[in-house]
Amino acid sequence: MITAHTLGFPRIGVQRELKRATEAYWAGTLDRQGLEQVGKTLRARHWAVQSNAGLDFIPVGDFSWYDHVLDMSTLLGVVPARFGDVTDGAVDLDTYFRMARGRAPSGADVPACEMTKWFDTNYHYIVPEFSPEQVFRLASSKLFDEVAEACALGYQAQAQVKPVLIGPLTYLWLGKIKGAQINNGEFDKLALLEKLLPVYGEILAKLAQLGVTWVQIDEPILALDLPQSWKNAFEAAYVRLQQPGLKRLLTTYFGALEDNTALACRLPVDGLHIDMVRGPEQLTAVLDQLPSYKILSVGVVDGRNIWRSDFAKALAILEQVKVRLGDRLWLASSCSLLHSPVDLAVESGLGEDIKSWLAFATQKVDEIVVLKRALNEGHAAVSAALDRNLQAHQARRASPRIHHAAVKERVAQITSDLAERHHAYLVRRIAQQQRLNLPLFPTTTIGSFPQTAQIRAARRDVKAGKISERDYIAAMHEQISYAVRKQEELDLDVLVHGEAERNDMVEYFGELLQGFVFTQNGWVQSYGSRCVKPPVIFGDVSRPASMTVDWTVYAQSLTPRPMKGMLTGPVTILQWSFVRDDQPRAQTTLQIALALRDEVCDLENAGIKIIQIDEPALREGLPLRKKHWQDYLGWAVHAFRITASGVRDDTQIHTHMCYSEFNDIIASIAALDADVITIETSRSDMELLDAFSDFSYPNEIGPGVYDIHTPRLPTTEEMVTLLEKAAIVIAPEKLWVNPDCGLKTRQWPEVETALTRMVQAAKTLRARYTDEAGNLKEAG
Ligand code: GLN
Ligand code: ZN
Repeated sequence: MITAHTLGFPRIGVQRELKRATEAYWAGTLDRQGLEQVGKTLRARHWAVQSNAGLDFIPVGDFSWYDHVLDMSTLLGVVPARFGDVTDGAVDLDTYFRMARGRAPSGADVPACEMTKWFDTNYHYIVPEFSPEQVFRLASSKLFDEVAEACALGYQAQAQVKPVLIGPLTYLWLGKIKGAQINNGEFDKLALLEKLLPVYGEILAKLAQLGVTWVQIDEPILALDLPQSWKNAFEAAYVRLQQPGLKRLLTTYFGALEDNTALACRLPVDGLHIDMVRGPEQLTAVLDQLPSYKILSVGVVDGRNIWRSDFAKALAILEQVKVRLGDRLWLASSCSLLHSPVDLAVESGLGEDIKSWLAFATQKVDEIVVLKRALNEGHAAVSAALDRNLQAHQARRASPRIHHAAVKERVAQITSDLAERHHAYLVRRIAQQQRLNLPLFPTTTIGSFPQTAQIRAARRDVKAGKISERDYIAAMHEQISYAVRKQEELDLDVLVHGEAERNDMVEYFGELLQGFVFTQNGWVQSYGSRCVKPPVIFGDVSRPASMTVDWTVYAQSLTPRPMKGMLTGPVTILQWSFVRDDQPRAQTTLQIALALRDEVCDLENAGIKIIQIDEPALREGLPLRKKHWQDYLGWAVHAFRITASGVRDDTQIHTHMCYSEFNDIIASIAALDADVITIETSRSDMELLDAFSDFSYPNEIGPGVYDIHTPRLPTTEEMVTLLEKAAIVIAPEKLWVNPDCGLKTRQWPEVETALTRMVQAAKTLRARYTDEAGNLKEAG
């Protein structure tokens, strides 16, 4: 018999119960007991969903109050000293929340731990913080308690309960060494493995004591390019992690094993899981190298996207694997279902056709079970489900809602000149200077101004039909004119309309483009209690009408100063959506790029002289393996250039990026050929700009001088210092002055203060760097 399981289930709850409960607990309106009860209910429900559907195992330990990496840190006693003396005893829940958020109902406020993206997903984890003298110890009973809880609910430890852990190598890999005595990672965190393994040993011993047979140990870093020392460490570590009576399933996901195939197959564990969605090509090599005593868990149901599985395709592969492996074949989701929304059944607004093409976590569980039964009992046993699946796929392939010949044709007709401006930057620069006549160190903002309660109320009311479309437009116009007036008072050079009409920078465009749909409850966890509801790109993308022109033209009509048009770029729209899986992502991006190109041209034709195309998610799309980077960067840059290149030389194109590493993709950032890039620099104190100088970045740059996330506003002097630092590595005539990112999460009073100082800083620099005639002084 073939065994079926998932690597984990979403923990937030179909109504985001976990979010509500944790936030209420933080606010003091729900007590600890109430919180625990919500967790217990969610765990019981999610186990029941999986078990009742017919999965053999339930994952235990996939539930987390905030983040599963932070759970590992507390399990292993990795609590930085600033959170208090936690060298013995259990790490309590408030310490846990303080590590995540810097605060909790009890305990002093402290700087939170760093947070970063979980591989190439939009889930963020809390970065483990190690000291070179790090001590590890068993410091939480959560995992064991949950195993006991599952047993108390009637699940058999031996046959049904499968605890989930992050493996020791992945855990170390995800962490960072912090401590005064080390400079820049010279201490090799791998040296901590020796001290870490005994605690893993204790964990496994405890799980064995609880009667568990199988434990899932996640080592997704096996899908990455690993240094040789890390590869070697795997072997040594897993030789030591033996526990009589306990079987270990080593899980890998988010990519193929590639050069780590032999290593992964050879490790002394009892089973291996591979991601067949991200790395179908690895199957043959794995089958050839897997020792005959191991089971192979094949992840065929996509844990990261929302499309219904293709049963015919999956079964064709699985039947063959079954011939080779027999009962050693396990079936699973490709990765944890954490990255899928919870349940499609609650979606009432999607339309039956689109709904029939989708599967959320609950449906994915059912899919795994259908596949299992087809293999165990024969196709006839599940013929109705197989038929429905086939019909849905046929309908999807042929649907006129998805396929638009004109859109496909236009993409097919793209020629390389569509991605080229008329002239090189140096020529454009002169044309733009003549037309815009901006001072040195021009000042601008990144786009959004505070999303006030009034703005949100107007949006709510128009959606609910409480106010008319006309009233809504009037309300937005009022906001826009307020923002314009403020910017004139502040004496900014290049203005923005403030994005009052945008709930979200991707959703706004998705709602106006064809080929997108929106769910009502398709939430996925982004970090902690924060959930996002990504748009679904289901079909060919086109633009029925202009999307931003009216707002921008209205804003421009209020001022003689240049009004910057504001768009979200094609790569960011793609990256922050659930993307159709029936054509390459590059193709979908080009469709979006063409739609946006038309918007750019419409803005130009309407008299807008500066247009910003935001690409904050450019780097997020980078493949996990370096050898795939060039391909991605190639099409991503191409798509941006298609969007931007329809305009005249004297129309200035800006782009904006933030909160990511730029150094290793600087050549691609330059290849975007935007006339101006505004970037966030808060986290690096302008050190980021070294990359721009080493590379000798050709166009103009606005390094952020106001970190929009700090409650403390920088002084004029601080901004001047930052700009002078920037002016050492970047020619002063190429420097812009702007905040790090959009201001939508701020309040007007602080924005006014910060921008007053920012404009003052620009003026100070102008005085310092120019002579009476306003010309740049010789090296100031
Ligand atoms: N134009 C957007 C804004 O100002 C950019 C947001 C972002 O970079 N994430 O809000
Ligand atoms: Zn930004």
